[in-house]
This record gives sequence, C-alpha cells and structure tokens, in this order.
Amino acid sequence: MKQFKGIAANIDMPVLGLVSRNPFSLSRCGQVLVSEGLSLLAKGFSGVITGEIKDKTSQAHVKLTDGSSELVDGDCVLIDKDGMVTVVWEKHAPMNPLLLTEACDCQCLMCPQPPKVHEKRLTETAKKILNLVKVGDDQTICLTGGEPTLLKEDFFAILELIGNKHPNSNVMMLTNGKSFADFQFTKRFVQTRPANFISCVSMHSDVDEVHDRIVGIKDSFYKTAMGLQNLARFREKIEIRVVVNRLNAQRLEAIANFIQRNFPFIYHCAFMGMEITGLARDNYEDVWIDPYDYRDQLSKAVKVLSRANMYVSIYNLPLCLLKSASWAYARKSISGWKKDYVLACESCSKKEDCCGIFTTSGLHLSPHIQSIL
Ligand code: SF4
Ligand code: SF4
Repeated sequence: MKQFKGIAANIDMPVLGLVSRNPFSLSRCGQVLVSEGLSLLAKGFSGVITGEIKDKTSQAHVKLTDGSSELVDGDCVLIDKDGMVTVVWEKHAPMNPLLLTEACDCQCLMCPQPPKVHEKRLTETAKKILNLVKVGDDQTICLTGGEPTLLKEDFFAILELIGNKHPNSNVMMLTNGKSFADFQFTKRFVQTRPANFISCVSMHSDVDEVHDRIVGIKDSFYKTAMGLQNLARFREKIEIRVVVNRLNAQRLEAIANFIQRNFPFIYHCAFMGMEITGLARDNYEDVWIDPYDYRDQLSKAVKVLSRANMYVSIYNLPLCLLKSASWAYARKSISGWKKDYVLACESCSKKEDCCGIFTTSGLHLSPHIQSIL
C-alpha cells in the first residue's frame, strides 16, 4: 500500500477517513481534508492532511511534505499516531486488498506477510473501511491475510457486511484453503458469502511432502485438497495459485497435470513469481530460483492446462524471463504501488505488456532481465 511519512499533531488514536479536498463538505465525520493550510474550515473533519503543523488547535492533523498530491478524493487513508499516512483504499485501483489478520495456520517458506498473533484492530479497521468506501462495479475487494478464514465469526461478519453494503462488488479471497476441509464451515461460507466471490487457494505441489515442506505444516496438502473438493461440491468459483520457488520449480508440468486431473472444476489457475520480502527474504537460499531457469517447465505447465481447456495465467513474471510461447498467458499482475521497471526496460519493445518487477524484492533480480528488441 502507498505510504507517506508525515509529522502528526493531536492524533491520539489512528484516524481513518475518505480523502476530500472540499472544505465546505457537509459530511465531515469519516472524512480527511487535504488542504495547504489548517484553517477554521477544517472543523469537524476526522483529520486534516496539510502542509503545516499548528500548535494552538485541537484538530487532528498531519504535516505531509510529500505525497498529498498523489491522494485522490474518495481514497481512504489511515493516519497513525506516528504520522504515517497509509492509503488503505485507492478509489481508482482495480483491486484493493483488505488485510483482515496476520494470523495463519501455515508458515510458508516464501510468505510475504510473516504470520503473527491476530490483532483485533485489523479486522475492525477492515470493517470501518468497508463502511466508508464506495466500491465501483469494475473494482475488486481482495480479502487477504494471514488466513482470513481463521477469524471464524468475524470472517462471517465481514462477508455479511460486504453482502449488505456492496452487494454487487467483486470479491476475491486469498486462502490456504485448509478451513474448507471442514464441510460445515464450507456450507456456512457458501450461505454467507457475497454473490460475486472467488476463492484463490494456494496449492504448491502435486507431492504431499513437498507442499507441506513449502507451507511448513504437516498434513496441509490433504487439508487443502479436501478444501478444494468441498468448495467444488457447492460449485464455488475457485482459483488455484501455485507460487513457484526452488522446491517446486522443476515439477511445474507435473503440478499442472495433477491440477488438471484432480481439480478440473476450477475456474482459473495461476502460476506466480515470488515476491522476495517477508519470510522469502529470510529463507532466500531455500526458495529463490531465477525464473529464467524454470521457463521451460513453466511453458510446459501452461500448455498442459491450456490444452485441457482450462483458464491459466502467469503472474508477477517479466516477459524477458519467459519463453515467448508463454507471453500470451502473462498478466500485468503487480499492483501499481509495488511495480517498477529497471534501466533495461526503457528500450524494451514489450514494456507496455510487461508486469515489471517487484520494488519490494529489492536487489534480488534475475541477471537475465534484458530488453526485448
Ligand atoms: S503465504 Fe499465505 S498461507 Fe502461507 S503463511 Fe503466508 S499467509 Fe499463510
Ligand atoms: S526488459 Fe523490462 S519491460 Fe522488458 S520484458 Fe524485461 S522487465 Fe519487462
């Protein structure tokens, strides 16, 4: 998410609100005014993002020297006590993630969001965001974690809230799928979820031991496989996500065959390049593999699923690291705020079609990134 560091004044509790540049707005509660100075017109706004700090006021405000021009009216921002301004909802983003919890019942070697004890404030913030924002018909709410389903009652409350407030919205959920091994849980989920919903389930291998080694918890493979089958019994819309890493990269064709034979009911399968952040950074030696080194396997894998008439994509991998036969499957999947291009991209004829690279991956780049002429 986009973040800007400012200097906070009178912010005792985090302030959440929709960005507005209209100082005459009638509805001020739940709105954050963006203005150059702090005048009496700011009275009643939940917070103000401004270019100055004023001492003689009780108005919650933050001085931001950089970034306020990037804020769009209708964005939702969270201002923390330390002056950090986070854009938790972008009005024009095609997809906005809502982090519901950092707790997870897996411990994946390449987890970008290392599991932590659940903090209730995350769920409460997500609910407040959902109550504030307007979701466009072309926008997607992405429920993410951690593992959102572990929230149990709060998880169902959030599904209900979306169904009531944003009944026509598109919703996707990133999940390890293990909770759906419980048939009764799956049944309640199906009865509660909003109408346009896709469950994106991680499945990283066709071999139980390899999957369990990647996700760090024994028996996860069988629980996820059972979860997929239970979701299918209710004809749910499902995507399988395979995060490619050193442990599974040379089995991509076998994984594709496994998916095609066992889960032919899925709507979509995505093979995903890794973001080198979080646990992936800590376990770099175990998980990193240059995508260039598995491009043959990846090409075969997408061919297997495509020939089976299944919808298949490649996410997060630049075109120069793929075989040209795979380009048609590569999507521009990296979110705008963490997408970057390097010097070689300037002269690349495929830049417009390429997803670029993760800024969050730092210096961990393939030496094979080079312009396509
Ligand atoms: S990658 Fe997903 S399933 Fe794995 S530990 Fe992280 S949050 Fe959990
Ligand atoms: S050089 Fe840059 S723009 Fe071209 S394919 Fe590679 S990463 Fe993409």
